[in-house]
Amino acid sequence: MPRMAEFYIGIDLGGTNLRTALFKATSKTLEPVSFLKDNLRSTRPDDVLDFIEETVKTVAGERGISGIGLGVAGMISAGDQIVRRAPNLDWTDFPLGKEVSSRLGCVTEVINDVNAIAWGEYVFGYEKKYPGMLCVFMGTGIGGGLILDGHLVEGSHGMAAEIGHVKAVASPDARKCGCGKSGCIEAYLGGKNFGSWIGEVIDSWDGAATKLSNDPAFPLHAGHVDEAAAAGDIFALSLWNELAPALGMVLANAVTLTDCGVLLMGGTVWDNCPVLRRLVTQSYNDFVNTPSRATILDSRLGDKAGLYGAAHRAFMRNLSSEID
Ligand SMILES: [Zn+2]
Repeated sequence: MPRMAEFYIGIDLGGTNLRTALFKATSKTLEPVSFLKDNLRSTRPDDVLDFIEETVKTVAGERGISGIGLGVAGMISAGDQIVRRAPNLDWTDFPLGKEVSSRLGCVTEVINDVNAIAWGEYVFGYEKKYPGMLCVFMGTGIGGGLILDGHLVEGSHGMAAEIGHVKAVASPDARKCGCGKSGCIEAYLGGKNFGSWIGEVIDSWDGAATKLSNDPAFPLHAGHVDEAAAAGDIFALSLWNELAPALGMVLANAVTLTDCGVLLMGGTVWDNCPVLRRLVTQSYNDFVNTPSRATILDSRLGDKAGLYGAAHRAFMRNLSSEID
C-alpha cells in the first residue's frame, strides 16, 4: 500500500519576521509547495510560539505535518534544540524545539539560520555537487555555515563557522562587537554595526570632500558607500580599500583552515555592494594559499535557502529515526 503523502515545514525566524514554507516529501527529497512571509507581532517567546502554531496550521491546512525545521539567528545547542542566545529576539536559553514539538505534535529540528542556509544550498541549490562548502552571509550580521565531506559541521558548542566573530583587527582601538569582544569582522562589515559607526567616520574624514557627508539617506548603509565608491568618491574608495583586505583575509584564513572547496557568498551587504565584492575577491585571491583555494560561488536559492535547509534537517531526523 502506498504511504500517505508526508509534508514538512521550514521556518526562518528572524528578528522582525517569520518566513514559512511547506514541502511535500518524495521518497528521497522535498518539493516546495508554498511560501509565506509575515511580520512578527512581538518577540516574546509565548507570542512567537502562538504565531508559529497559527502560521503552521494556516500553511498546512488539512495536511498532516511530519516535521518542522526552524532556522534561528543565534547560538543553538544542537543536541537539545535550545536557543542559547538570540540577540535579535532577546532570547536566552529558550527550549524552542520542545515547545513547538509539544504544541504541534511532530518532530522538530532547530538550527542556526546560516547553517540552515548552508544546508539548503548544499542539498537543493547545488544538488550535492560540492561536498564541502563554507557559506558566508553578510546581512545585519555576518554568519557562517560549514559543510565538510557532506556533513553539516556544528562544532562542540554549535558555534562552528561563526565567521563574523573571527578577528580582523588587533589594534587596541579595534571596534567593539556585539559579542563583547573587539576587532571581529562583523564589528566592521556587519550591516547593523556598519550603520552605527559610518556617520562618525565620515564626520572625522579630513580628506577630499565626500558626497556622503550630505547624503540625505539616514542611516547610511554599505550600499550607499558602495554607490559612492563606484562614482569615484575618494572617501568611499579609501574606506573600501581599508576594509576589503580585512574581509579578504578572514575568508582566506577560513578557507585555509577548512579546505572547504567552495565559498558561497550571499546576503544583502554582499549582494548590494559590487565594488566591495570585487575588492574583497581580489584580496581573498591574494591571501589564500593556492592548493586550498576555494571557488567563490553565489547563492542559488536566495532568501529561500534557509527554509529548504531547515525543513530538510527535520526530514532527515525522521529518516534517521526510521533507520534506528
Ligand atoms: Zn564579535
